[in-house]
Amino acid sequence: MNRRTRLIHTGKDRDPRTGASSMPIYQVSTYHQDDPEHLGAYDYGRSDNPTREALEHAIAGLEGGTRGLAFASGMAAIASSLMLFEPGDHLLVGRDVYGGTYRVLTTLFRTWKLEAEFVDTTDPEAVRRAVRPSTRGLFVETPANPLLQITDLAAMAAIAHEHGLLAIADNTFMTPHLQRPLELGFDLVVHSATKFLSGHSDVIAGLAVAREAAVGKRLRFIQNAFGAILGPQDSWLAQRGLRTLAVRLEAQQATAASLAAWLSGRREVRRVYYPGLAAHPGHEVHARQADGAGAVVSFELADGPSAVAFLKAVRLPLVGVSLGGIETILSYPTTMSHAAVPRPERLARGISDGLVRLSAGLEASEDLIDDLEQALAAAGR
Ligand SMILES: *Cc1c(COP(=O)(O)O)cnc(C)c1O
Repeated sequence: MNRRTRLIHTGKDRDPRTGASSMPIYQVSTYHQDDPEHLGAYDYGRSDNPTREALEHAIAGLEGGTRGLAFASGMAAIASSLMLFEPGDHLLVGRDVYGGTYRVLTTLFRTWKLEAEFVDTTDPEAVRRAVRPSTRGLFVETPANPLLQITDLAAMAAIAHEHGLLAIADNTFMTPHLQRPLELGFDLVVHSATKFLSGHSDVIAGLAVAREAAVGKRLRFIQNAFGAILGPQDSWLAQRGLRTLAVRLEAQQATAASLAAWLSGRREVRRVYYPGLAAHPGHEVHARQADGAGAVVSFELADGPSAVAFLKAVRLPLVGVSLGGIETILSYPTTMSHAAVPRPERLARGISDGLVRLSAGLEASEDLIDDLEQALAAAGR
């Protein structure tokens, strides 16, 4: 079936008991057992909940995996997945992964003796050279934040297979509607479902999908043992959002493409980062592995004061942390996602004080362009 149809008809999209048009919110912590010697399929809410299962089933189908698991946040999904490794293991991690992933690896998991080495995953040879005898995993994100650098997923999967590494991709920016790392040989996909999957800036949620049943089973053990599960209400909200993913993302992507083209022609804008632009260094690799360029565009203004003045002058977009909502969201990496990165390192990585990240929403693009135009003019004054 076409992915658009599968978003709607997941196989667990109705209540089998009543025929209700969505899996109801099972707001329960426990289940009555008829036979205390032989517990039923549902015994305790942390272990199993039908509403959570419906979401887990849906994401597994969309990513083409065997097992989906829902967590309390994207970070809970990522941290729980990192528990698949053991103290002493060496991990290769994309240099530009999400700040929360960097933080958990360099603090809590460092104490736990998981050794994360940050590498430039846009260069497969650099990744291959960094593999050591103790390397057990590879963690990548593409497009990466905030410069939308592209990592070749098939090349990463090949390196992982050569060396027996567990390959994990954070697919938050693309979603399975545009990119399916498991089909390219990855073992595990993780998501912040807070972003495009839920899509309405109203829920914090995380998802993970395993390609093989054995990995799914181990992660399911961790989910139940560690307990960072997604609650029934948020599971329902995430699934409600997921049903409209295709139409939302396609419309937001079209807006992002037109904004990227418009920004490219503005003299106030020094540089535009969008994988859909032919000049983007990862354009070809991205086009090969994804079905679209996505709805996130970054661009650079002259300097920090211009970027701040611009962000203060916009009227329509929400200015803040996050992306993937129905409203256009502008973020300022310098004080938001990358505030913890020391300035010299930030600059060395190409994240200047003039950089702004835009996540296109569902507003009419001409209204956004009018607003961005007046804000650029205000920032230039
Ligand atoms: C937001 C985000 C996360 C973290 O997800 P939360 O739901 O905020 O915990 C992880 N990875 C990426 C790429 C993100 O954008």
